[in-house]
Amino acid sequence: MSGGKEGGARQAGWERRLKWVIAIRLLVAILFLGSAAIFQLQERPPYPTGPLFSLLALTFALSAFYLLLLPRVKRLEEFGGFQFAADLFLSTGLVHYTGGIVSPLTFVYIFPIFGSGTLLGRRGAVLMSSLASILFGLLIDLEFYRIISPVGDAASTYLSTGFVFFRVFINIVAFFLVALLSSHLGERLREVGRQLEVQRTDLRNLKTLYQDVIANIPSGIMTLDLEGRIISFNGTAERITALKAKAVIGSFFGEVGLDGFPGLEDFGAREKDPTRAEAFEALFTRRDGTVLPIGVTYSSLRDGEERVLGVVAIFQDLTERKQMEEQLRRADRLATVGELAASIAHEVRNPLAAISGSIQLLHDEMQGQGQERILGVILREADRLKLITGQFLDQVRMPRPPVRGCELVSSLEETLFLLQQSEEWSPGIDLHFERRVEDLQVMADRDRLKQIFWNIGLNALQAMSGGGTLSVVIGAEEGFGSVEFRDTGEGIAAEQLSKIFEPFYTTKGRGTGLGLSIAKRLVEDLGGRIEVKSPPGGGATFQIFLRRLSEVGSDAGSSTTLSSAGGVR
Ligand code: ADP
Repeated sequence: MSGGKEGGARQAGWERRLKWVIAIRLLVAILFLGSAAIFQLQERPPYPTGPLFSLLALTFALSAFYLLLLPRVKRLEEFGGFQFAADLFLSTGLVHYTGGIVSPLTFVYIFPIFGSGTLLGRRGAVLMSSLASILFGLLIDLEFYRIISPVGDAASTYLSTGFVFFRVFINIVAFFLVALLSSHLGERLREVGRQLEVQRTDLRNLKTLYQDVIANIPSGIMTLDLEGRIISFNGTAERITALKAKAVIGSFFGEVGLDGFPGLEDFGAREKDPTRAEAFEALFTRRDGTVLPIGVTYSSLRDGEERVLGVVAIFQDLTERKQMEEQLRRADRLATVGELAASIAHEVRNPLAAISGSIQLLHDEMQGQGQERILGVILREADRLKLITGQFLDQVRMPRPPVRGCELVSSLEETLFLLQQSEEWSPGIDLHFERRVEDLQVMADRDRLKQIFWNIGLNALQAMSGGGTLSVVIGAEEGFGSVEFRDTGEGIAAEQLSKIFEPFYTTKGRGTGLGLSIAKRLVEDLGGRIEVKSPPGGGATFQIFLRRLSEVGSDAGSSTTLSSAGGVR
């Protein structure tokens, strides 16, 4: 495609050049015709003017013929060569009729040689000068030997052989010199033309690059002249203002609804040549009424001579940034509130302990006075408060020191024993304890492990207040040790499964909703995870995975079934 275009441009260039050649040829012909005519009128001409006029007429005819042929010829370079060769024949005719060896017009050979040198290059020029030398030499030879008779006074000149040789030699040398010089000149001209074309292409590329950059930059760019007419408006400016560049370019900013644009309100009074760019943030109301925060920087638009031509506004939509800042501020406030709550919880725990201790005493002292029920309520509620504050503090407590590793089985056995002693343990519960792995070292510490197992085990007991089976299975898989708590309680409804780990989510009248969220956070802090399943048949299974320290030990495969009366030690 581009090759075709280039070829077309080349052809057009050659056509233009050959038209020039034809024009110059005609001009030279008219000059000779004119001078010959004047010559004929004023003096007795030394040569017969008839053949000269015929030659000139032939030149005219040929020029007209070339012009007619020009649009039809494909190979214009060769066509040019043909014209220069024809010119050489005409020149030979002219030289013959103006005195041959003594002709004052031998220089006319130089025109076609010069033309071919500049247009056709060195090869063309050498070819033309050789042809000119042959034609001129042949003419002089023919006249010298009287094969054709010399015109005018030339006949006598041919008597001196040395002079004839000298004239021929001088002319031929001149032809070749002109060929060399003109082809050199042509080469230079073509080189300069090529360089200019390269520069022009570079400039075009630079211009498109610059336009692409401006169009795709993530900032809105709007330029205004000194009167306030919009000169340019990029894609981002279109997005931010919800205006189309086509609609605003060339209009005054007030006409397209930008009079409320931050910084343009006082455009008339604004200094157009500030020493430093002015930047500010403000709200911008679009035509449809939506308001958005934007940051604008104004600077002056100058030309190469530092003259101020207008004003450039570069602006950004700050909506997202403002939202992010707001989120950060909110998170910061929440963290402060959390800290405050933690310190209050901490302060509440001590008086609470004193109160519940005192009430316990009162309760003991007032046995049989009918107040036990009320005191019992107070005691229970105080215990509940202690539980909530304790769990809350666990939730927000500062991170503990890094863990090294801890034996899982004994921690679990200890927690199971405590669970069996707790109030939640009902006589109808069977505990099935299975160890598929002996001596499991995991990344944890004893306190945290016990807390995790306690929270999950307690839930299982609460779910089976009417009795059931609690199965606890220790296993291992791919770098993780696992503990499974499976109960036969009421189970968890599918829609609740996603919520049970949220803090304060509870379905129990006296629950706090903190047990599972604390367990999850502890497990995740240790690099592990908790998975929960609750099949429709009832019952829930919580599986805790903790990172192992060593490789899986020997598979013991021991299994123990313990009734509520039994203990695990
Ligand atoms: P709480 O026990 O104080 O309610 P948790 O965070 O420990 O708080 O538990 C949240 C909720 O998850 C419980 O209220 C309960 O609905 C559900 N849940 C947890 N474990 C079980 C389980 N083993 N069986 C049935 N529901 C459970």
